[in-house]
Amino acid sequence: MPRFQRLEHGADSKSSIAVMSELNLILLGPPGAGKGTQAARLTEDFHLPYIATGDMLRGAVKDGTPLGKQAKEYMDRGDLVPDDVIIRMILDCMESPDCADGLLLDGYPRNVEQAEALEKAMKGKGRGVTATILIDVPDEEVVKRISGRRLCQKSGHVYNVFSDPPKHDDVCDQDGSRLVQREDDAEDVVRKRLSVYHEQTAPLIEYYEDRGVLKRFDGLRSPTEVHDHIRATIATLRLEDEL
Ligand SMILES: [Zn+2]
Repeated sequence: MPRFQRLEHGADSKSSIAVMSELNLILLGPPGAGKGTQAARLTEDFHLPYIATGDMLRGAVKDGTPLGKQAKEYMDRGDLVPDDVIIRMILDCMESPDCADGLLLDGYPRNVEQAEALEKAMKGKGRGVTATILIDVPDEEVVKRISGRRLCQKSGHVYNVFSDPPKHDDVCDQDGSRLVQREDDAEDVVRKRLSVYHEQTAPLIEYYEDRGVLKRFDGLRSPTEVHDHIRATIATLRLEDEL
């Protein structure tokens, strides 16, 4: 009798999507969680390309790549670009030498269906998701961060009426011009975005939790603390892989 029993293939299939020789990271979090800030720091720490799917899509359309042309046809008709087109774009990025050590993906997947499609496509290329980084921020904090935002009309100086208010209501400290709230930042718009986020992301969180790749971070902490915590977690993942 062998002392250690090997896990039957399939028995651990849920956890087997983690591929440790690369860092394929997915960034999750509500609007206003500071994902962009963290992404900028992480790509620098680990020399990973940052793929924000919205930017990727716009770039492909602008450059007129074959997939960009396909995507444009849908966009011109006012339709959503189908998942398989987006996933092929992501896979193309992954195949590029820049992504040999992994990548940081933001904006995709947004729901379980997309996550499954992405997982399948990555598996086909012998790749998998190393970790999904969730920056957790409570709804009330998101509402304060976004709907509290005010911009000065003249130079775009940014304030927040809750956390960084101007000396005088609705007046820019620096140039005296009027402060305005962007339409997208209005509280009801933010709450609507949050409800869509929760509806789609809650199952997605569970999906990655089941696969043992979800890492949660407290987005109420300062950006530097969040960054330190994420960096340490990823460094540990890498270390475990080398052992
Ligand atoms: Zn100003």
